[in-house]
Parts: sequence; C-alpha cells; structure tokens
Amino acid sequence: MPKCPKCQKEVYFAEKKSSLGKDWHPACLRCEKCNKTLTPGGHAEHGGKPYCSKPCYANLFGPEGFGRGGTSGEKGFYGKS
Ligand SMILES: [Zn+2]
Ligand SMILES: [Zn+2]
Repeated sequence: MPKCPKCQKEVYFAEKKSSLGKDWHPACLRCEKCNKTLTPGGHAEHGGKPYCSKPCYANLFGPEGFGRGGTSGEKGFYGKS
C-alpha cells in the first residue's frame, strides 16, 4: 500500500491522487505554502513538495524574484523586507 508523502498514512486505491510520482490523499495534495488543494499534474513542485504554480511557486522560486518589497497588495507572508 503506498503511503501518502504528506501525512505518512496509507493511501487506498479508491482515494489516491497520483502526482509527482507519488500517491496522495486528495486532502493532502495541497500547496505547501497556501494550502490550496491542487490538481494532479496541474501544479508545480519543489524539493518533492507540491506548490501551486501561481502565485506560490512563482513567488518563491520564480525567475522574477517577487517578494522583495515591490509588490504591494499581496499578503505579506513572504516579506523579506
Ligand atoms: Zn495524506
Ligand atoms: Zn500556493
């Protein structure tokens, strides 16, 4: 039985969501940053953890370097000041 990489519990076939080469509980396949539920194959990944492509992945790892004080209006959870 595969284990969910998020909660380390077994994932039953009927409920699993396969993404990043692993099997997740539907409720566990969420963005590491904002906890938004993700769609298998429709999200980004970093370090084996799922992130939503936008805004989180783009904010955290994107080439544009958001989060350095330029964008007001975003929630300030990634404020580096
Ligand atoms: Zn789980
Ligand atoms: Zn997110």
